[in-house]
Amino acid sequence: MSFVQYKVQDPVHQLANVLCTTKIKPMITQCCMVALYNRQKNCAPDEKAHFDQTIALAKQWERRKCNHREPLEPSVCIEQVVGPANQHRYMLAADDPVLRRSLRRVVPGLPLLHYSQSVLILEPMSDLTDRHIGHMEANKSAIPASERKLLEKVSQQQDNPAETAPEQAMPVKRKKPKAPNPLSVKKPKTLKSTPNISERSSLDAAKAKKPQVTEAHTLQQVTRRRKKRGRGDSHAGGN
Ligand SMILES: [Zn+2]
Repeated sequence: MSFVQYKVQDPVHQLANVLCTTKIKPMITQCCMVALYNRQKNCAPDEKAHFDQTIALAKQWERRKCNHREPLEPSVCIEQVVGPANQHRYMLAADDPVLRRSLRRVVPGLPLLHYSQSVLILEPMSDLTDRHIGHMEANKSAIPASERKLLEKVSQQQDNPAETAPEQAMPVKRKKPKAPNPLSVKKPKTLKSTPNISERSSLDAAKAKKPQVTEAHTLQQVTRRRKKRGRGDSHAGGN
């Protein structure tokens, strides 16, 4: 309604100057639009032109669907659309000081704007928003719950070193064996791996054959020696 009261020509341009950005999407709720039409109907004849201008401007803006079947008072409608936490990140430009004051007290993070004479003013941050930002910053810098538990566990272990002794002994035990890892050591060439069953059977057969040969060989030698000895004995006996 400030646009009518102060004959503001281009509020979006003023808003762009205040916020130092051109990325502005002006919105108006359905109930606010109905209120504008009602004011136009009941206005004085000299105000009608201004209302026509204002409605033409508001029609260019995005119509925020508040889904109020029966149009509510603009202040009530806006309060509901903004909600308790301003989850859609609106900025509110409202002429109603009562509405601005009440939302300032209960909705954190809701920038408020209003016209003073024909100048658009961005209100200073509310105490509620300031506290809310502080709370958010504290949460951001806070340690996550999982890490906090880990830190508590470590501090408990430091307080009771006896409990931690067995856990700390584990890595020391692992370090003890000084022999190199057998898998990393190159096998000596002389050592052969244990033969498998087929190899072992052939080896056994070879071993079984060998003694037969040697035994036969030694038997021959023994008989020869005995013969020699027998001859010698007979000679000796004969002498
Ligand atoms: Zn509404």
